[in-house]
Amino acid sequence: MPVLRVGPNSTEERIAAFLRFKPRVLKLPYVYAIRFMEACRAAGVDPRRDVPGIKFVFISGGAYPVEFTRAVEDFFGAPMHEVFGCSQAGTVTCGTCDRGVLARGAAGGERGWMHNYEHEVLTEVLDPATGRPVQDGEEGELVITPLFRAASPVFRYRMRDRVRFGAPGRCGCGRPFTTIECGTIARYDDMLRIKGVNVWVHELDALILGDPSVDEFNGVLMLDERGRERVCVRIEFRSAVPAEARAGALGALGTRLRDAFRVTFDLEAVPAGTVRRFELKQRRWTDERTARMARN
Ligand SMILES: [Zn+2]
Repeated sequence: MPVLRVGPNSTEERIAAFLRFKPRVLKLPYVYAIRFMEACRAAGVDPRRDVPGIKFVFISGGAYPVEFTRAVEDFFGAPMHEVFGCSQAGTVTCGTCDRGVLARGAAGGERGWMHNYEHEVLTEVLDPATGRPVQDGEEGELVITPLFRAASPVFRYRMRDRVRFGAPGRCGCGRPFTTIECGTIARYDDMLRIKGVNVWVHELDALILGDPSVDEFNGVLMLDERGRERVCVRIEFRSAVPAEARAGALGALGTRLRDAFRVTFDLEAVPAGTVRRFELKQRRWTDERTARMARN
């Protein structure tokens, strides 16, 4: 299968390549899929009419709602598939079979299952508190041991990814492999993936709260009306910071954030008492990207 890599191109150039080459398979990072669909709609492109030969659409890179799957399948007129891979394993460790990411048939609408490639990677799903294997249908931490690597082997590598484990037979296709539920892989730690960049929440919080003019803040990850990712940070300044100094402080903080994380943040100063504060556990960040996908 010839592979057309369009990663460095603009969305407009990708749409042009999509129309010109009419790919049989389309691979999209999940946070980009909504943007690509909205850009196609804006350009008057209907894949069912203009690129009718698509066999399937491949999504990787995060958890997504079932409604998102339906939106993708309706728009492209093709089933959606998912794989999971990681650099520690040096490979893809599991993927959907011909049934795709939804459990089809009588129970339709439920999530499907990715089969672990057990001939290449020993995959365990363990209770992170006890280290014991979880049972069929339970959540646990993904632990992998690639069986083929010689130069840089890893042994029982704890991924910090939270997955739902399925015993062989879960998928219903008859393949004799253990499985992982589609669309629900999440993190145990506090890492955010923003515009393709992995960012630790504690590092982000430390940088913003380390600014002596900042009293408190909340951050929201969202998709704008064109489906682009935005990071909006609402900041309360300390009362001692004079009003005329606040615009300059925002600009300087924005520059430090961009330099540290290679991501552009939209910063906004808000009046004292506006930002939510939490008594027990500080959760300053909310991720509204998936909520928007569910609406589309
Ligand atoms: Zn299957």
